[in-house]
Amino acid sequence: MASIALKTFVGLRQSTPENNAIVLSKPIATTTLPYRRLRVNASKSSPRVTGRNLRVAVVGGGPAGGAAAETLAKGGIETFLIERKLDNCKPCGGAIPLCMVGEFDLPLDIIDRRVTKMKMISPSNVAVDIGQTLKPHEYIGMVRREVLDAYLRDRASDAGATVINGLFLKMDLPQSKNAPYVLHYTDYNAKTGSAGEKKTMEVDAVIGADGANSRVAKGINAGDYDYAIAFQERIKISDEKMKYYENLAEMYVGEDVSPDFYGWVFPKCDHVAVGTGTVTHKGDIKKFQLATRLRARDKIEGGRIIRVEAHPIPEHPRPKRVLDRVALVGDAAGYVTKCSGEGIYFAAKSGRMCAEAIVEGSENGKRMVEESDLRVYLEKWDKTYWPTYKVLDILQKVFYRSNPAKEAFVEMCADEYVQKMTFDSYLYKRVVPGNPLEDLKLAVNTIGSLVRANALRKEMEKLSV
Ligand SMILES: Cc1cc2nc3c(=O)[nH]c(=O)nc-3n(C[C@H](O)[C@H](O)[C@H](O)COP(=O)(O)OP(=O)(O)OC[C@H]3O[C@@H](n4cnc5c(N)ncnc54)[C@H](O)[C@@H]3O)c2cc1C
Repeated sequence: MASIALKTFVGLRQSTPENNAIVLSKPIATTTLPYRRLRVNASKSSPRVTGRNLRVAVVGGGPAGGAAAETLAKGGIETFLIERKLDNCKPCGGAIPLCMVGEFDLPLDIIDRRVTKMKMISPSNVAVDIGQTLKPHEYIGMVRREVLDAYLRDRASDAGATVINGLFLKMDLPQSKNAPYVLHYTDYNAKTGSAGEKKTMEVDAVIGADGANSRVAKGINAGDYDYAIAFQERIKISDEKMKYYENLAEMYVGEDVSPDFYGWVFPKCDHVAVGTGTVTHKGDIKKFQLATRLRARDKIEGGRIIRVEAHPIPEHPRPKRVLDRVALVGDAAGYVTKCSGEGIYFAAKSGRMCAEAIVEGSENGKRMVEESDLRVYLEKWDKTYWPTYKVLDILQKVFYRSNPAKEAFVEMCADEYVQKMTFDSYLYKRVVPGNPLEDLKLAVNTIGSLVRANALRKEMEKLSV
């Protein structure tokens, strides 16, 4: 959740669909897509598909896959969504920004909690309340992933996608231009017992939405990324204790909870999710988790651990995200922000953006797509979000490097202007132009905090000599 306004952000905004529309020789109105009016280039060279529509397989039914499959199906594509576990409960804090609720038309009953108060707690346990600048209708949504993911998949199915409960194994790449991809998978829908039945499927294009350990990425030699390991325990606490977390989340920073990330307590329907993560000290993750629990002990005392989960979080995009007629989205592509570890919104958004590029490029499923069609998604993605990733990367390097820097970070979060800019950029995924005077004050205060932190670090170093 931690993102702040920096001068570099001023003037950068999320691009509007109009800004990104492809330049077209002959616009064709599409009535099947409710999100936006897509305009397509009628002078394409790719061949028409005859006797059927374009066939696309989406591998993975998390937020990226669900959003992609829904958009494809609504756009006239013959869509197959392959998910290995339909009741999958992805290890995740489940915090989503307000704009996701609107942009993805999420019903309010799938949101467990509406967080309006956030406590940021420093290494020395100084707690700063953030969220005071929120307007009455603004909140951070807390969802359980098994609920959100199932909802998005069902919506894709209602739009016409065929949902297959299956494990994707590998794919054979086409041997000639426009030849199909052959996907090998184990079909658990088949009535051949729980072991499933080995099957193959031919499609014209593939979207890899199969998360951090993506097999689709391996299939196109997309290359690796650095990753953090995140650990989380779901803890059932008494109703009395739950009242404290009713609309409140906590973020703990300090070398004890993580050298390079933060620990969290996020409220869910009837329990809290307590977790932490690290890139640099993966072997110590359980020690950091214990420290996070210790820091929150007064508030979770007597709680019962009902689930323990861990999963990798990508640190940056893969070297390759598109090859021929295969595209990666969400965690498979590597779209989690540093510093905050946020990836749900970016997964759903990239899934939708990629699917829109395929719908546009194929003229609603009537033509074959080419790599250049899929690259439209990449260009749009990078143009829209690259600055966000860059700023959060810098923030992590500056503020998560030592306990004194983390202390300075929390001190800075007490500033109302910082809070407003932070929440605006997090909740709406757009960056509003700053107030020059406030930006200057912020810069001076930030430097002041860092100088104090540095002085403190030097004193600490002297003590430890
Ligand atoms: C502990 C933890 C806490 C987090 N907290 C937050 C948070 O609070 N807010 C936030 O925004 N982000 C958070 N994240 C990041 C977020 O969980 C991910 O960015 C997000 O889930 C990415 O969505 P996705 O659809 O790309 O991939 P995933 O959610 O990983 O979905 C991939 C899907 O593909 C399926 N799959 C995988 N392989 C196959 C296969 N071979 N065949 C068929 N199906 C397959 C999986 O079963 C899964 O359903 C957290 C991550 C972790 C680990």
